[in-house]
Amino acid sequence: ESNASPLIDGRVTCVHGLVNTVLADDGRHFECAIRQVLKSVSIEGRGAVVAGDRVRFRSESDDTGMIEFVAPRHGVISRQSRGQQHVIAANVDHLLIVTSAAEPTLKPALIDRFLLSAEQCQVNPVIIINKCDLIDPASIQPLVGVYAAMGYRVLMTSAEAGTNIQYLRELLKGKQTAFSGQSGVGKSSLLNAVQPGLGLAVSEVSSDNQKGRHTTTTSRLIPLADGDGAVFDTPGIRQFQLWDISPEEVAGLMPDLRPYVSRCRYSNCLHLSEDDCAVKDAVADGRIDARRYDSYCHLLEDDLLLG
Ligand code: GDP
Ligand code: ZN
Repeated sequence: ESNASPLIDGRVTCVHGLVNTVLADDGRHFECAIRQVLKSVSIEGRGAVVAGDRVRFRSESDDTGMIEFVAPRHGVISRQSRGQQHVIAANVDHLLIVTSAAEPTLKPALIDRFLLSAEQCQVNPVIIINKCDLIDPASIQPLVGVYAAMGYRVLMTSAEAGTNIQYLRELLKGKQTAFSGQSGVGKSSLLNAVQPGLGLAVSEVSSDNQKGRHTTTTSRLIPLADGDGAVFDTPGIRQFQLWDISPEEVAGLMPDLRPYVSRCRYSNCLHLSEDDCAVKDAVADGRIDARRYDSYCHLLEDDLLLG
């Protein structure tokens, strides 16, 4: 023990088989194995680290080492594959929900769905409305107002015109950021505007290529040049599945519905067709936005297969 090399702090950027690439806080890269004893203490049901994990390791050469400690995680994002849940990103400081004002059409219901996923993972969401050069920004102010009133941060950007790119760059500083959003909304373009050359490389995972063994299922953490931040390039992040969430939980995960949930007459109220429902009353007199309530109903009926 006395001649063991000192412990080095770092974060896992990539996992390939038994080898983990760790970026030390001083900027050096190491290929690290992980102590057997740590593997047996399973982390979230799996005995390994994932991109984003904070670790402490001992160097065994200039570029190899052994992971000795894994810090407790916050902000964990998982994906489901073949009925099993896999953690794909750890210590996600915030989730950027990227949408476009047009081309493809702005889909508030999709924003609501991603917001719910973020709340479920306990990751702070930030709503990005990109391609704002294609519309009159005033036309989406009412929608932006609804989210802002709930306490969500909303940022209108244009990768094309450079609008709010500096603000986005500031937002990414010192944070580990994950991205979600349909393809074509401009995720790669935004990242490329923030840091030229940086684009998300991995394509969207569709159900068709579940069987394709070449599909990357692990994520990578890509350090940003400026200010200690990093972004996840993660196949499963672009589309969330709302598995593992019971219908009764949904309203409590929506900040605008939440205050009314406990006022319902029945503790197991789903706020759909029950009488004396405090949520429905609040929709009726405008305290809850009607479109948000529609989203809620669709989430229960379509995504959670009620109905
Ligand atoms: P991703 O699939 O979400 O990564 O989207 P991309 O970054 O590949 O962008 C899809 C298309 O939208 C490309 O043709 C981009 O040039 C275009 N695009 C991206 N951002 C903007 C924007 O702010 N304004 C306009 N008008 N087009 C954009
Ligand atoms: Zn109710």
